[in-house]
Amino acid sequence: MVSLTINGQSVEVEPEATILQAAEKLGIFIPTFCYDPELTLVGACRMCVVEVEKARALMASCCTPVMDGMVVHTESERVIAARKENLNLLIANHPLDCLTCEKTGACRLQDYCYQYGISESDYHGDKKDYELDDTNPFFIRNMNKCILCGLCVRTCHEINGAGAVEFMNRGFDSKVTAAFDDPLENSSCVFCGMCVDACPVGALTPKHGIGKGRPWELKRVKTVCPYCGTGCGLELYVKGNTVVGAKGDVTSPASRGQTCVKGRFGFDFLQSPERLKSPLIRKNGELVESSWDEALDLIAKKFKEVKGTELAGLASARVTNEENYLFQKLLRSLGSNNVDHCARL
Ligand code: SF4
Ligand code: SF4
Ligand code: SF4
Repeated sequence: MVSLTINGQSVEVEPEATILQAAEKLGIFIPTFCYDPELTLVGACRMCVVEVEKARALMASCCTPVMDGMVVHTESERVIAARKENLNLLIANHPLDCLTCEKTGACRLQDYCYQYGISESDYHGDKKDYELDDTNPFFIRNMNKCILCGLCVRTCHEINGAGAVEFMNRGFDSKVTAAFDDPLENSSCVFCGMCVDACPVGALTPKHGIGKGRPWELKRVKTVCPYCGTGCGLELYVKGNTVVGAKGDVTSPASRGQTCVKGRFGFDFLQSPERLKSPLIRKNGELVESSWDEALDLIAKKFKEVKGTELAGLASARVTNEENYLFQKLLRSLGSNNVDHCARL
């Protein structure tokens, strides 16, 4: 183990730990934009800089390994001045339309500006003026709000593997975009939405939640995605009785915050007026609502009429392993091995 001191407190950590991880162990908060423990460390945003005694420059705590005897200050005058300057530069060409921005209340740029008392930039110059990419049904890309942290790029490459977005150009013209600067719709994007969850600002906004509630108005409910047998953990955002958003649950051992397009964006059926509320029985060619008693009696009668292999059953990934086990047992007890699964759809 390595011993170091952070803000006057001693801590022992594994030798491969970073200063940021050591600070987390002590419950000391260090702001970050480009850091995600699941992704490659790049130390690009410089928000997490700290002062290390005897070091010449401020160090990016997210990617500086600890050393025995290190003495670190996370909120020294020098550190605060550097972070303020960083924010000052970031908001110099930022739209700052927080009043209507969907990210308000969950935006790290907004939070850190609040924390360090930055309300406007000292720098005046060109503003970015990119067209919104609104071409897909799931989320809007507003690159005017992008702070170039690269979390979406690394998430897309390293976790999803789609590699749909990358940095383009240099300097002021740097931009995150899809190949040939085409809309995402024409790229290899599979609309998993993980970049949306990773984005620390309002550059990537899910369409379904627009105008439906601020983060502090929403209850977060942990659940399991109902679509396939992987069983990804989801957090639903609920306002009143309505689900207005979903994101991957990072505490889920099955998925660690990852999602696919269905789990992340496909929950509108929850509120659909077309949801079945009672069984339907086909009578004279028409599907007619019935009671469960009537439906189950009919099923039992039909089971008795058909013989063994004439019978087939379609199971579902949306039920548990145990229920699927019982389902195939039932079919086999009725003399049929014809059991299939909706995942084939
Ligand atoms: S991204 Fe953040 S700072 Fe920018 S307008 Fe939205 S809430 Fe405000
Ligand atoms: S939605 Fe998924 S695949 Fe598309 S850019 Fe974002 S992370 Fe990549
Ligand atoms: S879109 Fe969001 S996650 Fe991607 S680089 Fe810009 S600010 Fe970072």
